[in-house]
Amino acid sequence: MNGITIALSKGRIFEETLPLLAAAGIEPLENPETSRKLIIPTTRADVRVVIVRATDAPTYVQYGAADIGVAGKDVLLEHGSEGLYQPLDLKIAKCRMMVAVPVGFDYENAVRQGARLKVATKYINIAREHFAAKGVHVDLIKLYGSMELAPLAGLADAIVDLVSTGSTLKANNLVAVEHIIDISSRLIVNQAALKLKREKIVPILDAIASVVGSCVVKS
Ligand code: ATP
Ligand code: MG
Repeated sequence: MNGITIALSKGRIFEETLPLLAAAGIEPLENPETSRKLIIPTTRADVRVVIVRATDAPTYVQYGAADIGVAGKDVLLEHGSEGLYQPLDLKIAKCRMMVAVPVGFDYENAVRQGARLKVATKYINIAREHFAAKGVHVDLIKLYGSMELAPLAGLADAIVDLVSTGSTLKANNLVAVEHIIDISSRLIVNQAALKLKREKIVPILDAIASVVGSCVVKS
């Protein structure tokens, strides 16, 4: 297989990656929101897109089932990025990883007092590292979605989640109290594919880099 396979997740990453791919002359021939197809051909006969779960994109690229992919920095930090070449910050799907608590909960004071906090999150590894670095004792509770519910339902004192506008927090009477890290999506490339299919992959990286306005980081 001498063609190029690109792993993308549906939703904001797919939408925001479209103009970047277009710069490389790549336009998917179907919309994954309306099509049930998971393999989508493009305007380039040698390039196809595979539709994956956002958290699965690094796995497809690591194993070489996809040559290129797009993954949030949150996903790369949480699940690891071993063996992946990350040449470009695409500056899309931007948000912040935050600690949030119910309005009225004195987080600073709880931390100062050395209280043991129950923290619900999808990002167990990121949260563990964050609180360990601060010397805060936490019991981490793994969730797969709707983290905002956890403090309201009495499951946790705090959450670690992605925040963009803050309107979901506000609607649920929560407030962000700590910024952990800025998040955006990265281009990820299989290292073996980069060597074997260099003449196809490098022009795609260069075209995307020129739209994003940054340079390709040479590994
Ligand atoms: P789902 O929401 O369907 O459960 P998901 O959360 O894995 O799946 P998306 O919500 O599309 O998938 O998120 C994909 C990536 O977009 C995340 O990994 C993160 O990097 C980024 N992201 C998540 N939420 C936001 C947000 N509110 N604003 C901007 N970027 C975000
Ligand atoms: Mg989501």
